[in-house]
Amino acid sequence: MKRLVLVGPGHAHLFVLEALARGPWTGVEPVLVSLGRRQLYSGMVPGYLAGQYALEALSFDLEGLARAAGARWEPSGAASLDAERRELRLGDGRTLAYDAVSFDIGSLPAGDTVPGVREHAVPLKPLERAVSRLVSVPEPGPLLVVGGGAAGVELALCLQARTGRPTVLLEDGKHVPRGASRMASRTMHGLLERRGIAVRLDSQVTALEAGVAHLASGERLSFGTCVWATGARAPELFATSGAAVDAQGYLAVRDTMESPSHPGLFAAGDCAGFVSGQHVPKAGVYAVRQGPVLRDNLRAFLTGSGTPRPYRAQSGFLSLLNAGDGTAVGAWKGLALHGRAPWRLKDAIDRRFMERFQKLAR
Ligand SMILES: Cc1cc2nc3c(=O)[nH]c(=O)nc-3n(C[C@H](O)[C@H](O)[C@H](O)COP(=O)(O)OP(=O)(O)OC[C@H]3O[C@@H](n4cnc5c(N)ncnc54)[C@H](O)[C@@H]3O)c2cc1C
Repeated sequence: MKRLVLVGPGHAHLFVLEALARGPWTGVEPVLVSLGRRQLYSGMVPGYLAGQYALEALSFDLEGLARAAGARWEPSGAASLDAERRELRLGDGRTLAYDAVSFDIGSLPAGDTVPGVREHAVPLKPLERAVSRLVSVPEPGPLLVVGGGAAGVELALCLQARTGRPTVLLEDGKHVPRGASRMASRTMHGLLERRGIAVRLDSQVTALEAGVAHLASGERLSFGTCVWATGARAPELFATSGAAVDAQGYLAVRDTMESPSHPGLFAAGDCAGFVSGQHVPKAGVYAVRQGPVLRDNLRAFLTGSGTPRPYRAQSGFLSLLNAGDGTAVGAWKGLALHGRAPWRLKDAIDRRFMERFQKLAR
């Protein structure tokens, strides 16, 4: 038997588990390693925090998913990797040898080393912990969301929709959402203004204390709850693994999603660093498209059936940002639209995605 270890129940691994549930791979013993019992679908988290969904609507039951895929389930997480010895150390101290291992463990919050962030802010990863902190927002006083990327903007809108608190969105660039087209950014700025959300551009937090953010300009901002949404950095366990990493510390992979230094070591989603130079943003929509390629390449590696194929990132994607009030902003190739139709589309896409994989676990 060859052992396949899937580390992290991220988006791409759902496709591997689905294929295993349809029929076992001859001679392959699968293992799923997760951090805890439940995986939350990040695309629906802002909607959950706005009060639009029940938690069950965006949760995967990992024990059920592993069972459906005929996989052993290890919920204590991966603590370290020894790529030379082909061994994984689990969170509970045991080691697990493998023939092939695939990482889909997402990323960590960038900038969480800024003084005071770990003590006084709610970083978005681990997502489960962030969600349980933000579902009640017990602290009185304004909401401060640091980071004007897609997740930060959605959270500012959705948390404000539910709590009605005065809300400030702080971004160190020139517009929000970061990276959006001119029209999408104009549409979003108009919406934020109408909703009374103050947007602070060109602003950088240098330190946090209880209830106070210190900005690079010398200004101090008071907050009740601070959400830290400043983007992604690499998970720490690759640095000591002996495997090749990219310039930012993500696990280096070829376009086939296999490590150039260690055959049988794969990665997908946010934690993968594509060394071919192709531009692959750290976003769930890219991790989803990597799923079928990863599935086929893992199967080819382990069973010898088929030849590995390259993953090619799409040149753009339809962005749908939930405003938390039954509307959303849709943006596609320089065009943007705010209203109920983009929300209905986002809701339908997200529910369909969940239904596909939740069905497996049932
Ligand atoms: C609030 C929010 C909303 C977002 N909305 C969108 C959106 O609408 N569209 C979009 O494209 N992107 C969105 N993103 C970005 C998106 O969440 C990430 O890019 C995406 O989740 C990455 O997917 P992934 O498969 O790499 O890993 P993830 O979905 O992050 O899953 C990784 C899993 O691995 C687990 N894990 C971590 N470390 C270990 C370990 N050591 N051992 C075992 N398991 C481990 C984690 O607990 C997690 O369950 C959003 C992000 C946030 C925070």
